[in-house]
Amino acid sequence: MAIQRSVTRRLIFPFESRKGAHPTLRCKEGESLMIRCSQCQREFDRKGEDKSVAFISGSIMGDEYIESYFFCDNCGVYTVEIYHDRFMGEDEISVRGPLPKSEGDAKVNLIQQCPEPWDKKCRCEAHRSYFGGWLD
Ligand SMILES: [Zn+2]
Ligand SMILES: [Zn+2]
Repeated sequence: MAIQRSVTRRLIFPFESRKGAHPTLRCKEGESLMIRCSQCQREFDRKGEDKSVAFISGSIMGDEYIESYFFCDNCGVYTVEIYHDRFMGEDEISVRGPLPKSEGDAKVNLIQQCPEPWDKKCRCEAHRSYFGGWLD
């Protein structure tokens, strides 16, 4: 079953490719992976050109939060998707935005200073600054 295992691993470990891959890939088939621009409602194609510019993961009180930044060329604003992986209970996805480009750029710059933004246990300068004092 080696092949099967490697396929599964690829699905649940979303970060083996470059930044931009997304943890909600581990959603079961049929669940929505859709994200829209919070300004013009255009749908981002997260597997194509619109994949997230950056994302960062952190754990807060045992829950994992992953925030992904999507940039809309039409509007020039960011939309932030917040994936909340609850230790107890249902996962939850919420969306924040539109975020002005300057503000989003600052966050993206911060995230890019972390060598491993997908590592919720990372406690680098960027992680601490991004999540403030909330990290476990
Ligand atoms: Zn837009
Ligand atoms: Zn970090």
